Amino acid sequence: MEAPTGTEEEEEERGNGFSVSAEERDRWIDRAMHMAQEALESGEVPVGCLMVYNNQMVGMGRNEVNETKNATRHAEMVAIDQVLNWCLRRSKNPAEVFQRTVLYVTVEPCIMCAAALRIMRIPLVVYGCQNERFGGCGSVLNISSDDLPNTGTAFQCIPGHRAKEAVEMLKTFYKQENPNAPQSKVRKLNGHKR
Ligand SMILES: [Zn+2]
Repeated sequence: MEAPTGTEEEEEERGNGFSVSAEERDRWIDRAMHMAQEALESGEVPVGCLMVYNNQMVGMGRNEVNETKNATRHAEMVAIDQVLNWCLRRSKNPAEVFQRTVLYVTVEPCIMCAAALRIMRIPLVVYGCQNERFGGCGSVLNISSDDLPNTGTAFQCIPGHRAKEAVEMLKTFYKQENPNAPQSKVRKLNGHKR
């Protein structure tokens, strides 16, 4: 069968030997957006992500830096820990799982997370908006694709999915919150504001 060119239907994207259909991409990014919204409502930087292995979600996370008072608890780090637990419970080899796992995240991974993703050897990252402050996939540094022989393997990025919504959430967060201030127990964004 010939691959259709120039049509929006049967859209498919590829990276590092992995292909992601438009349908599955939209489904997973949608869930990541919900995680980001939950982060925003909890007074956290609104980033949400999930990790998909064999068409199955094996880990998910949202930023929980303020809640844990631990600056490293970005969404991606939370999700990596969940995948490790998933592997442990099923006696799977994490190296094999991570090498076949796609990360869906609402914001470009930061420098720290991009390095962690390299070390875990995740091949493909589908993300929403750019991370202009800390981005490790081109915005500030190119950790994702640089030649770093002692830091895992390079990974491919497919950016720009629901970027506008992801940016809006970040803007809302940085407008209303001082991330270092003690969090009020009252949720300002109660309900399902979008
Ligand atoms: Zn990060």
